[in-house]
Amino acid sequence: MAQQQLKFSDSVSCMVDRALSVLELDEDVAEAIKACSAVIQVKFPVKIRGKVEVFTGWRAVHSTHRLPAKGGIRYASMVNQDEVEALAALMTYKCAIVDVPFGGSKGGLLIDPKNYSRDEMQLITRRFTLELVRKGFLSPSTNVPAPDMGTGQREMAWMADTYKHLFPDDINAIACVTGKPVEHGGIRGRTEATGRGVQYAAQEFFRHAEAVKESGMSAGLAGKRIIIQGFGNVGYHAAKFLSEEDGAKIIAIIDRAGVLVNEEGLSVEEAYQYKVDNKTIEGYPGGRFDSHGLQALEMECDLLIPAALESQITTQNAERINTKLIIEAANGPVTYDADEILRKRGIQIIPDAYANAGGVIVSYFEWIRNISHIRFGRMQRRYEEQRGTHIIDAMQQLTGNQLPGHLSDKLLSGADEFALVRSGLDDTMRLAFQELKAVRDSHSAIEDYRTAAYVVAIKKISRSYLDIGIY
Ligand code: NAD
Repeated sequence: MAQQQLKFSDSVSCMVDRALSVLELDEDVAEAIKACSAVIQVKFPVKIRGKVEVFTGWRAVHSTHRLPAKGGIRYASMVNQDEVEALAALMTYKCAIVDVPFGGSKGGLLIDPKNYSRDEMQLITRRFTLELVRKGFLSPSTNVPAPDMGTGQREMAWMADTYKHLFPDDINAIACVTGKPVEHGGIRGRTEATGRGVQYAAQEFFRHAEAVKESGMSAGLAGKRIIIQGFGNVGYHAAKFLSEEDGAKIIAIIDRAGVLVNEEGLSVEEAYQYKVDNKTIEGYPGGRFDSHGLQALEMECDLLIPAALESQITTQNAERINTKLIIEAANGPVTYDADEILRKRGIQIIPDAYANAGGVIVSYFEWIRNISHIRFGRMQRRYEEQRGTHIIDAMQQLTGNQLPGHLSDKLLSGADEFALVRSGLDDTMRLAFQELKAVRDSHSAIEDYRTAAYVVAIKKISRSYLDIGIY
């Protein structure tokens, strides 16, 4: 008989308990950290094609020890309150792991966006925003959504605009959501941030020779065989950067329709353009298509990157997963029970709460940009260029030689916003991995990166609870 799978929120809770068991933390504080602070369910009517439809949505706030609470809003036909609460909890831990000073939140709307036109989606999104604002679950200072599955820049722009109309006097209105288009207060580099963060996580892992050896792989990302599940925002960008910039081979891409396989490596950009044009990966000529996507997770590879949705690796398939390293680009793709199996089998996992934090890191940069009302790099870019000119002049005067063009070009380019965002994201991902690795290496009771990541998070959150006190 098939084993009963844990609910998503219970799965997250068990993982946190495993970390708590190695920490000597006051039980009351542990309970306070784990509890979901608030959750609302809203039901609202919208007139669609002459008929009234009632939509259901949720927004959960897991923690408010730092404000605003931060987390995406997903539009999906399967979303429910348990999922939203679990994802809000993950956001709390994620922000702590990567030192983003926010609490954790998450939202969801029960909808299949494919069934609605652009104008209808706008109407529904604006109405949902109104509900969240009225109930105190959306504002620049307390609760700031971002894109997630089924939502993107478009939805964020509608949300920000709705909020601005409600509060025209709020000078920080534009900071009420992140992940907006650049022309509407967004930041360069946010769209690809989560996939870029996954790439930086992989790069940092491969900088630690003993970690790579322990996983059973040879050094270097180049040539590593990767399977990606999910070919949306996160999966596409992660696959693109890892193949085009690090020389890894994407041997399979799994999407809703099935899987594309090419042992020689798929062209990510071509496959993605095919998907955009045809609304499916099926029929793409550069790979072999099979409709059994889930089974493809069991194919042999070096890195398996689930970037679609939760509970994809469960007790049903964990014994057959044939990879050296899993990087959790999606939230909760491995259930607690499956995690136990994989751990015993020696398969390393870079956990979601760290691996997919790129989105919230760059959202943090966007929020700061919004409340400071200035683009990063605006004040210093030309100044840096001037300094570069002085350095070149000095070097040429001292040596009597002309500096080669490729060196002077580098010295002459001041950092723009895009470069600064990438640098800040890279730095944050590197430091966070080093921190969780140091915790794993220094505690004999901690075997895996996930427990180490939760230990890092809980220590930071508990410090803030203990400093402020619980009343
Ligand atoms: P998306 O909607 O852009 O893409 C999701 C992809 O998953 C699509 O390609 C879809 O076809 C595929 N998919 C859906 N059901 C599937 C199934 N049963 N089997 C295989 N593929 C399936 O979503 P996204 O923004 O890329 O988010 C993906 C995951 O990453 C989610 O778990 C999300 O919570 C997480 N995440 C996203 C962000 C972000 O910035 N977008 C940040 C952190 C975490």
